[in-house]
Amino acid sequence: MNENKDKYQIPDSHPRAISLRTRHKIIEGMKNLVVAEAGLIAHGRGEAFDYIFGERTNPPAIKAMRAAVATLILAERPIISVNGNTAILTSKELVELSEALNSKLEINLFYRKEGRIQAIREILELAGAKEILGLNEDMMVEIEELESNRRRVDPQGINIADVVFVPLEDGDRTEALKKKGKTVIAVDLNPISRTSIHADITIVDNITRVLPKMIEITYELKRYSEEQLKKIISDYNNKRNIQEMLDIIKNYIENQKEDAFKFLNNNINI
Ligand code: ATP
Ligand code: MG
Repeated sequence: MNENKDKYQIPDSHPRAISLRTRHKIIEGMKNLVVAEAGLIAHGRGEAFDYIFGERTNPPAIKAMRAAVATLILAERPIISVNGNTAILTSKELVELSEALNSKLEINLFYRKEGRIQAIREILELAGAKEILGLNEDMMVEIEELESNRRRVDPQGINIADVVFVPLEDGDRTEALKKKGKTVIAVDLNPISRTSIHADITIVDNITRVLPKMIEITYELKRYSEEQLKKIISDYNNKRNIQEMLDIIKNYIENQKEDAFKFLNNNINI
């Protein structure tokens, strides 16, 4: 059979084709210095959750995205924080979203390594980014109460932002940003990570699906009045939303108790 295969030799018909291609992108990113070694493992943790959400965007994630976009549109100084994994997976979308929202991009890394900021800068610029913050290490200021490298932030970016969009964030820093009085919007496939629990708006979905959807929602909500945007935000309840995501996991596993065995029985002779 003649099947379409991509440059990684993954056939289109493979049930996990998208997931496998994403893995290869992350690996390439690591070879190019964009992604930290630990970024591979963090990606794997995300994949495991994605699996039990059925690898699709679920309704609570859409609700969170709408609240997130409304919040970002109404923000005075919004900022999008970029790390290696988000840059390699969604560079074009990061640039388009930042332009649509009028929000700057700041490179902010947990694992710093010689050349990594430059490598991320290059892929963002290749994707069309005109202004990128977080490039000049000597100019950075520090967020108190935080030990990790990510305490260092750009004085013109995260430091003065009122709303921070942090795809794939670490729990310690989410807490620190909250203590600094910022509104935090996170994307995290683990609905019970410290990031998810502490963020004001938690989008529990894969970053590769979230950014295209958020761009679409931005174009829609930009036509809304301030009143309408505020209503979307006040109607949104993050705790309830996370609980709905946990119910989705519970139901998925319940269904698998039956379905997984059906599959085994049907394929017993293969
Ligand atoms: P926390 O520090 O918030 O308690 P953690 O220590 O368990 O979380 P980290 O390694 O700090 O996890 O952050 C990685 C997080 O990013 C994980 O929770 C993982 O589920 C999530 N993640 C990884 N890849 C993706 C992706 N493509 N889309 C969305 N979330 C992802
Ligand atoms: Mg962590």
